[in-house]
Amino acid sequence: MPIDVRYDPENVFARILRGDIPSDRVYEDTEFVAFRDIQPSAPVHIVLIPRGQPPTSAASVGDSDAPWLGRMVVLASRIAREQGLTPGGYRLVVNCGDDAGQTVGHFHLHILGGWILGPVA
Ligand code: 5GP
Repeated sequence: MPIDVRYDPENVFARILRGDIPSDRVYEDTEFVAFRDIQPSAPVHIVLIPRGQPPTSAASVGDSDAPWLGRMVVLASRIAREQGLTPGGYRLVVNCGDDAGQTVGHFHLHILGGWILGPVA
């Protein structure tokens, strides 16, 4: 998806948040939801998303987003630990726009692990 796309309340993650689409949730609180990716790229592949209508991509975040982005990374590290990805390690991925293959316009973070991950590039 283009990096300047407007937020679409019918995007798949908005529908997962509303419960319109079922998901295998591994964590949720008042601010974030984490669920297993439907097409996993690794033995453990979790998508972590903010509730509400966040920026559509990393290209649209601003200074005011820094507090929740910080909490999101801290939470990702906690979920990775709880999923048994430490001490081996894991990868946190944010795809941004078409060239990175981003398909869903609701800011999200991938948590990947459970085997040896290849080079990023
Ligand atoms: P992106 O490519 O935008 O960074 O990541 C979107 C991710 O959402 C993809 O890895 C894709 O497999 C996942 N996904 C798309 N639709 C669904 C769905 O309906 N359920 C779940 N659990 N994951 C989905």
